[in-house]
Amino acid sequence: MKKENLWLSYQDEDKKEINRISEWYKKCLDGGKTERECTSLTVEMAKKHGYHDIKQVIEEGRKLQPGDKLYAVQMQKSVVLFQIGREPVSHGMNILGAHIDSPRIDVKQNPLYEKEGFAYFDTHYYGGIKKYQWTTIPLAIHGIVAKKDGTVVNIAIGEKEDDPVFVITDLLVHLAGEQMAKKATEVVTGENLDLLIGNCPIENTDDLEKEEKEAVKANVLELLTDMYGIEEEDFLSAELEIVPSGKARDCGFDRSMVLAYGQDDRICAFTSLFAMLEVEAPQRTLCCLLVDKEEIGSVGATGMHSRFFENTVAELLAMTEGDSQLLLRRALMKSRMLSSDVSAAFDPLYPNVFEKKNTAFLANGVTFNKYTGSRGKSGSNDACAEYIAELRNVMDEAKVTYQFAELGKVDAGGGGTIAYIMAKYGMNVIDSGVAVLNMHAPYEVSSKADIYEAVKGYKAFLQWK
Ligand code: MN
Ligand code: MN
Repeated sequence: MKKENLWLSYQDEDKKEINRISEWYKKCLDGGKTERECTSLTVEMAKKHGYHDIKQVIEEGRKLQPGDKLYAVQMQKSVVLFQIGREPVSHGMNILGAHIDSPRIDVKQNPLYEKEGFAYFDTHYYGGIKKYQWTTIPLAIHGIVAKKDGTVVNIAIGEKEDDPVFVITDLLVHLAGEQMAKKATEVVTGENLDLLIGNCPIENTDDLEKEEKEAVKANVLELLTDMYGIEEEDFLSAELEIVPSGKARDCGFDRSMVLAYGQDDRICAFTSLFAMLEVEAPQRTLCCLLVDKEEIGSVGATGMHSRFFENTVAELLAMTEGDSQLLLRRALMKSRMLSSDVSAAFDPLYPNVFEKKNTAFLANGVTFNKYTGSRGKSGSNDACAEYIAELRNVMDEAKVTYQFAELGKVDAGGGGTIAYIMAKYGMNVIDSGVAVLNMHAPYEVSSKADIYEAVKGYKAFLQWK
């Protein structure tokens, strides 16, 4: 396979479309910094494109017609979209899947503490991160606090121009001799990744207990009560995520790339969603599945291992061909899927971990991985050669540029996706996606050309008969 930078091949109309998609994409990244925000954003966009809440349609007892569009949400953290095709659902669906959770730092359930005049949130990181990368950068807090009275308080602080931001401190280089000699995994420990949130004591300390005058913590608590109406115990039922502050930006003098937080895997989620929203009147039933918890093993009720997706397809069948276990099994088995997740892009500064022939390059198109896994393909969905051949044909006919890649050299490491979980139904699944540089870092780099090719590729896949 010849490697060729895509930018040279683009005409003016391509560049116009690249601009439209990448601006839309950056806006989505800014509005979707957590799985909850991504879910609400998806629902909002789906509604504008004629999608209806499946719960409502079930209640109405309405039968579905070709062209009908539905969405279903699982616990505000996963979402699935369907567009009913002209063919019965039991003939199989064309499914685009991706995950909307990203590596980050979560606030603990008993988070607030004061030490030597500083107030902190204690945290537990989520997903695989190089901990030292998350210190000394401006951070924002996004999430919700659920109160006992049933109300839910939405929090997003650290994004607006006049918002305060937060930070995890690191040792000054002048005193870091001992620290700098440590292994990178030990330079910053997980328990030390605590968020600095205040340094000003409360004015009236009369109410504080004599021996434990934590006046800075008390001040933060009072501010939280004023701002959000929450008390310290309410953190017990909160989901607060610490993420890099700031917007997605164009990267490079030529603006050919995007630098942003959370592109793993929202770059695949939003491009899948864009394709889903822009394809009309399909032959097969279309599905776009955006799930939570991939970064920690696809577990829980909102992760891919949950029966949420299967249950929803059962509902879909009940509203079309009938409530049949056999038809449900057929619908799943005869489906085909692009399970999309980011690929490791070749980084010329670190060539040693890549095998160039089988590595994704930025601006070289949408990526397909026959298999992922590590150490002898362990844990991988290994896509069928016959399926790949058909897929190549579909992509070539739609003039989509694509590359086949693995994640790094054999035995250099590896990674997993949601592909193997969907493959359990016996459907054809292949890993696909977009290549990024410095995956899982606070800010990741992608190519606008690849984003464009991904949307083109996903549209062609959805239209596959
Ligand atoms: Mn991922
Ligand atoms: Mn990841």
